Amino acid sequence: MADLDDGEDGNDFFRSFADVPLNPPEKRDMCSRCKRPLAVCLCAHFPSHFLQISTTIHVLQHPREESRLLTTVPLLEACLPPDKIVIRRGRRFHKNDWPDLHELLNKPTTLLLYPGPTAENIKTLGEPPLGENYDIIVLDGTWRQAKDIFHNNPFLCQARQVQLEHDHISEYVIRTQPNSKSLCTVEAIALSLSILEKNEEIAEILIRPLRALCKIQLEHGAVVHFNKENEDEIMLRAKRQERSHRKKMGGLSEKER
Ligand SMILES: [Zn+2]
Repeated sequence: MADLDDGEDGNDFFRSFADVPLNPPEKRDMCSRCKRPLAVCLCAHFPSHFLQISTTIHVLQHPREESRLLTTVPLLEACLPPDKIVIRRGRRFHKNDWPDLHELLNKPTTLLLYPGPTAENIKTLGEPPLGENYDIIVLDGTWRQAKDIFHNNPFLCQARQVQLEHDHISEYVIRTQPNSKSLCTVEAIALSLSILEKNEEIAEILIRPLRALCKIQLEHGAVVHFNKENEDEIMLRAKRQERSHRKKMGGLSEKER
């Protein structure tokens, strides 16, 4: 749920400013939908219609995450109906300022996606009661920022805490992840939604723009960041994942099958 390694946080923050072109492109050179320069427009990778889902995503975004150029949450906003993704920015969410969030915590169908010893595997959750839907709260920022939000808002623990148990290799390769199980916010939400909505395609559709974003950034000089665990093992798992992805997309030759 965090987009980069704590150790790189400070450097990365300032580097993101360094990446801002001195002469920003003129307005006409910007895509009106994804708000990116036309040369790096991602619209072709978004679904033509918003995904129809029953779960609502509530992102609690650390204020510094918003200022980073490569935050992944806008990719989700381009794919999900506006009423299914609610973004609240802050470090402390006091009841007086955020009454709707506190009210949400009283609902038995509200989930907090955050790992911990008491967190349940999201796969083992049953269906929500008839006529109700799940709301998932996700903390968005670096790992340190996400922890900061978690510890500063103890009321969040009122929600049923869930975690993802998965073997997905993060495809957000332009940022260092703390370990081979770490996912960026888009990936964590994509996999969670696939499980809750019982639709594997959702993960693929939501991760596709992220993959495209990384490809574009790499073509424009970004470097691949490995996480801090064994690189060989990760490369092997990444290859397996790529193969399975291509197979699903029908792009695997007979020999490779
Ligand atoms: Zn665009």
